[in-house]
Amino acid sequence: MDKILAKKSLTQWLKKLDGYDIYAPVPQDDTWNYDLIADPDTIGLDFLNTVQPPKKIFLPQREVFLEFSRSVDGTPQMSETLPDPAPFIVLGVRPCDAKALTQYDMVFGGDTKDPYYWARRDKGVLIGLGCATPPSPNCFCPTVGGSPHSTDGLDILLTDLGTGYYVESLTKKGEKLLEPAKTLFKAPTAQDKQAKEKVAQEAEKKIRRKIKNLAKVPPKLKGMFESEFWDQEAMSCLRCGICTYLCPTCHCFDISDEVKNAGSLQGERVRTWDTCQFPDFTMHSSGHNPRPHKASRLRQRIFHKFQYFVENYQTYQCTGCGRCISLCPVGIDIIEVLNKVRDHA
Ligand code: SF4
Ligand code: SF4
Repeated sequence: MDKILAKKSLTQWLKKLDGYDIYAPVPQDDTWNYDLIADPDTIGLDFLNTVQPPKKIFLPQREVFLEFSRSVDGTPQMSETLPDPAPFIVLGVRPCDAKALTQYDMVFGGDTKDPYYWARRDKGVLIGLGCATPPSPNCFCPTVGGSPHSTDGLDILLTDLGTGYYVESLTKKGEKLLEPAKTLFKAPTAQDKQAKEKVAQEAEKKIRRKIKNLAKVPPKLKGMFESEFWDQEAMSCLRCGICTYLCPTCHCFDISDEVKNAGSLQGERVRTWDTCQFPDFTMHSSGHNPRPHKASRLRQRIFHKFQYFVENYQTYQCTGCGRCISLCPVGIDIIEVLNKVRDHA
């Protein structure tokens, strides 16, 4: 169902959505990031993209799995801490970040569903914002099967037409959000539809970065596991983990027990984000580390995204958001690395 919403009516619409928490991009210093919104009047959608993708709303950087303690007679006690959030909206999600969440669904779904992830995911409604201009000079979503106006993973897609938004409701969850404010939405005209198509086409034309023949990369990687190429490419890496923590598709985590009171063995089992770029990510309790060098860890990042994930899920584990390129402090550029892999002798 397609509609038109005047920009001045956006806040009115959001105020009618009783019972939903709203996350939206907010300015923080000179960047934008998602936060819980207390007052819809403060929401603005004139941002390029957030530094952190919205993945933290569904997979928090630290979350408690269970609490444990020992009773007076020494019996161990455990209590589960499954989240039970109110229904919530994530507003202004860029199509690359929404597509990344569909990959989270594959990883945390499957035969064994992760109940902590799904407790949040099932309650969330994603309102996307198509890109009128690429949010970053390093965007390359079309190379990895996306587009600045892709609807993958979204419940509603907004396209900025200047004075109003073209509103595409894509799922039942999306349609439900339009119901409380029916009078604010108008039927689109043929001109509105043309204008929306034009914005999408122009945005795609503005994307400058691409990888030619990316399909050649996965088979090429198979023969490059032992290559010295990785030593050269990883030479400047600082092992900071920025490329993975800020990647919308990276999802690796660690589980540890944090004891608060040693006497009563009281504490929490927690899940925290982890990254394959840290030296202790693969450290065994024996002291052996199968990925001891940063070359093996850069190799893992590329193999996971462009070889293993393709074999397991038939898609690249990258949505072309460009964050890892723009924010790597030493300029390691995944597009350049993949171009070199493709052309490697
Ligand atoms: S952001 Fe750059 S320097 Fe930091 S771990 Fe990733 S590749 Fe290495
Ligand atoms: S690998 Fe880089 S470009 Fe691809 S989704 Fe992750 S951060 Fe974005």
